[in-house]
Amino acid sequence: MNITIHRGANQIGGSCIELATEKTRILLDVGKELPSLDETVPVETELLPGVKALIEQQAVAAVLISHSHGDHVGLIGQVNPAIPVYIGKGALHIYNTTARFTGSQPLANPVVFFESSRPQIIGDFTVTPYLVDHSGYDAYGFVIEAGGKTVVYTGDFRDHGKKAKATAYFKNHLPSGIDALLIEGTMMTRSMEALETEDQLEEKARELMQSSDKPVLVLQSSTNIDRLVGMYKAATKNNRIFVMDIFTAHIVSQLAASIPKLSPSFDNIRVIYPFWLTRKMFEKDHDHLMNQFSRYKITKEELGRRQDYCLLFRPSMLSDLQHIDHLEGAELIYSQWSGYKHQKKIKAVLDFADQKTMTLTDLHTSGHASAQALKAFIQQCNPRMVLPIHTENPDAFLECGNRVYLPQDGELIRL
Ligand SMILES: [Zn+2]
Ligand SMILES: [Zn+2]
Repeated sequence: MNITIHRGANQIGGSCIELATEKTRILLDVGKELPSLDETVPVETELLPGVKALIEQQAVAAVLISHSHGDHVGLIGQVNPAIPVYIGKGALHIYNTTARFTGSQPLANPVVFFESSRPQIIGDFTVTPYLVDHSGYDAYGFVIEAGGKTVVYTGDFRDHGKKAKATAYFKNHLPSGIDALLIEGTMMTRSMEALETEDQLEEKARELMQSSDKPVLVLQSSTNIDRLVGMYKAATKNNRIFVMDIFTAHIVSQLAASIPKLSPSFDNIRVIYPFWLTRKMFEKDHDHLMNQFSRYKITKEELGRRQDYCLLFRPSMLSDLQHIDHLEGAELIYSQWSGYKHQKKIKAVLDFADQKTMTLTDLHTSGHASAQALKAFIQQCNPRMVLPIHTENPDAFLECGNRVYLPQDGELIRL
């Protein structure tokens, strides 16, 4: 088996790995580069030339997508629609919902859904996906076997979120005699600091919501489902209603039954309709998507009259916040990566919060494994070769011994 990291050997984002035998070739992830923080670099729209050539020659038997983050799935729309795509059901729902709300196309390829720990045969390859804990919902790592060789790809993962047990199961069910481990290294440093767990974060949010009698606003990604669950629990334990916007409502609508959503089983959730998004969606004839949850609607006027709510919002909803009365003294929970605070749109939100004398609290933990967890994974996996990916700090892996090999993007690695 041959491995080529097309991108990711020295960077976070835009991951793409090729695995090939003489007869079968598969791709693991076809990610987009992460957008630049100052938003000056145009968004990537084309596959890497080497990957594009393989796709055009129809030399790829399947594309496997580890999870729905753009840096892993972002360029899937450029893949020939005849090529099958293997992906988690929840991950595909998130991808397609995002496409419908942003004006791009839902996935057109034939799809095979992953079932955790159930092997799938793709030509020469036997691929066994395992659900892992990550900030992206429905994320998988893989054990991949062909021609007597075994490769493990972790995808993005961690072990301090709400699915920590899934990562433990993956780790404990790795086969012996692994030839190569492709391991993400977002958080790889020499520091061995433990990271805060999602449960600890939820507890802090609960205490904060209890200590205030004002509205609570939470700035977070609509697709960070672990976080959303934590905020929902923190809010409802304090008898607050939980408010999400119509996009987020659709994101959670088809996820596992336990995930809070607009349905008779969760009577404390309401939906708001952001002005610009709503206008755009009606212009594009997406009336059915907009009307599907209208019976759960709460207006900005009603929010202005009450204080007992927790509202999840995105920066694009700033103009809606400006139309809600009585936000003075509210609590603002900043629940995403602190680096985004340099972005113009986030600065505008923070300025608004300042004008309204809101109290700003940072509550966030990484979606990725700590250095400690990465080293523990390598130890348990015990592969002949360690190939770091999805890292800006590959050198830091070298302390894991001489089985660490740091390839360049595009280099052919023969097992
Ligand atoms: Zn991810
Ligand atoms: Zn990633």
